[in-house]
Amino acid sequence: MRALITGITGQDGAYLSKLLLDKGYEVFGLVRRSSTADANDARLRYLGIADHVRLLDGNLIDLSSLIRVIREVKPDEVYNLGAQSFVKSSWQQPVLTGSVTGLGVTHVLEAIRLEQPETRFYQASSSEMYGLIQEPIQSERTPFYPRSPYAAAKLYGHWMTVNYRESFGLHASSGILFNHESPLRGIEFVTRKITDGVARIKLGLAQELTLGNLDAKRDWGHARDYVEAMWLMLQQKSPDDYVVATGRTVTVREFCRLAFAHVKLDYQKFVRVDPASLRPAEVEVLLGDAGKAKAKLGWAARTSIEELISEMVEADLARHRVTARG
Ligand code: NDP
Ligand code: GDP
Repeated sequence: MRALITGITGQDGAYLSKLLLDKGYEVFGLVRRSSTADANDARLRYLGIADHVRLLDGNLIDLSSLIRVIREVKPDEVYNLGAQSFVKSSWQQPVLTGSVTGLGVTHVLEAIRLEQPETRFYQASSSEMYGLIQEPIQSERTPFYPRSPYAAAKLYGHWMTVNYRESFGLHASSGILFNHESPLRGIEFVTRKITDGVARIKLGLAQELTLGNLDAKRDWGHARDYVEAMWLMLQQKSPDDYVVATGRTVTVREFCRLAFAHVKLDYQKFVRVDPASLRPAEVEVLLGDAGKAKAKLGWAARTSIEELISEMVEADLARHRVTARG
């Protein structure tokens, strides 16, 4: 089996590559050109798999590059994980976010439709699409209400995935994944910002941690568990849409408390709130019902938030101990 992953250099791309390699797949990844190409496989290196995947030059905003790559790889499965994925940046770069995170999905779908319509397709949709939540627990049937340019772009990509399935019969599935984290999470996301801050403070490399809205609630799971759900969706006879979540939501404040407590510190002594970190529009709470994924895919989250936090804090402590030693 051959899989092509867009966004292979990101958090999920790394964990999904590992999963697919372990299952005996040949794994190919689309990588956009950058002047720091020597560093862009850092996450794949962290998992010890950088030399086992093949990286191909391309960009989600360049349809011709996607057609060329699909023609060359002839993948059985395509996982579209590439995106401008940071909600806060999407207000600073709304047009780029629309191009990459939204229209990029159509580019991949078009490339598949034109070159290899039997290819199975996974779209990385997001719980951010629920935004201003219309139901206290969100499932596949909950109406969407996006609250950021990122969420609006994801919603377009989601509906294009549904549309190509219904219009052209593509095996195209959309995973509506709630927040998922790991030691490989980008440093700008709140969980990693916190665990990195905890490690720095514990090692005497920083004195405080500045955050925004501590009352926001998220349903946080582990990326390693969530990539399994992606793969399971493409093994089904029929394509479909699935919520992937843990079913437990906690505040940013509680995440802080647990992360500082892991190193026996009181978060209240170190966390400072800066109103400048607040967002133009906030998603206050997300809580997913993954009942359909459980019933149809046999999938359930395995990692508790306590285990997730412990793994992330320990990984950041290890990173900073190396830096501190010089
Ligand atoms: P990351 O931000 O870690 O990774 C994003 C990837 O997209 C990177 O490999 C990045 O490449 C690539 N990319 C960005 N722009 C382009 C472009 N123009 N062309 C090609 N590739 C591009 O995200 P995650 O791994 O956390 O998430 C994976 C996907 O799942 C994303 O689509 C995200 O929006 C979605 N998602 C994530 C959730 C989460 O909690 N993690 C929740 C729900 C959905 P580069 O390394 O060059 O920057
Ligand atoms: P998101 O759910 O994709 O936007 O993931 P983030 O990790 O970026 O943000 C999760 C929640 O944490 C949002 O409600 C943010 O407003 C909140 N938050 C509070 N402080 C911060 C911060 O300093 N950085 C980030 N990224 N988010 C913060």
